[in-house]
Amino acid sequence: MSSSPSSTSSVPLNTGVQMPVLGLGTYKLRGPEDVHRAVDAALAAGYRAFDSAAVYKNEADLGRALRELLPKYGLTRQDVFITSKLGPKDQGDKAMEGALHSLSQLDMDYIDLYLIHWPGTQGQLVTDTCNPGNRAQSWAALEELHDKGQLKAIGVSNYTPAHMSELMQTCRIPPAVLQVEFHPRLCQTELRSVCDKYAVCFQAYSSLGKGELVTEPSVTEVAKNCARTPAQVLLRWAVQQHVPVLPKSSNPDRITENAELFDFTLSDADMDRLSALDCGHKYCWDPSEVA
Ligand code: NAP
Repeated sequence: MSSSPSSTSSVPLNTGVQMPVLGLGTYKLRGPEDVHRAVDAALAAGYRAFDSAAVYKNEADLGRALRELLPKYGLTRQDVFITSKLGPKDQGDKAMEGALHSLSQLDMDYIDLYLIHWPGTQGQLVTDTCNPGNRAQSWAALEELHDKGQLKAIGVSNYTPAHMSELMQTCRIPPAVLQVEFHPRLCQTELRSVCDKYAVCFQAYSSLGKGELVTEPSVTEVAKNCARTPAQVLLRWAVQQHVPVLPKSSNPDRITENAELFDFTLSDADMDRLSALDCGHKYCWDPSEVA
């Protein structure tokens, strides 16, 4: 990356809006006090994006924390970018209801980005042939809410190249974002080219390997050599490839640490050393068998 953007730097989406490069992941962040503390630390550190989901059961706590805290930082709803996701239990004919429930839980007039969380349907086998029809029905509901301005951008998560190709052939509105697991042990080369081809923003989740990658020897050595922490190195490895990240922490010090990514550069040799860890390893769920 030639420039050193601040933590509020953003990437353009194919809708014309900008999405911040850095967002706070909120999986397992739950309960009014814990969410309030994390959002407070994040806003202070410069985060302007927050990644929630119906299945995280924290949409209401996130909405409340933002209403309470935005004035403290001289910010308004328009200054933050909120992502949430349709739960796999609502895939198909319950998608409209599920998305409206997210809006009501957040208590917001609109959501900046709403994703289909998973290509499958809860309660159905991953190989069930109902899945393509359910995905199409969910997408049509998201398109309708996008038309009404209630979902400013719509996208998908955990889609494989085959799911992306299916969606591109059937959609009226193309997805703005694909959010998938991405870190040095899972470089997602094929999905990244699919996103380039369709002008879809590729966004990383679990950049720290759910915390496990911070002790990986190559990561700790690169961190020591550039006087940064392993978490900062893992996040910088992604943003230096123009990939937006969503590190999760409930710890205010780590939330601040994870935002300090924009005042250093990894050398080409360090970037290559980290990318050489690629072995297709997934710390999260694997969508590759979903029909
Ligand atoms: P992650 O961000 O890779 O790692 C989070 C873990 O790392 C937590 O245990 C955290 O512990 C620890 N941690 C955070 N900062 C650290 C630091 N500086 N040093 C050492 N340890 C640190 O994992 P993730 O939560 O799986 O992914 C991030 C976000 O992506 C999620 O929260 C969610 O918003 C999104 N996501 C989406 C999907 C999807 O299917 N779309 C799947 C997974 C994740 P503490 O909290 O104790 O600091």
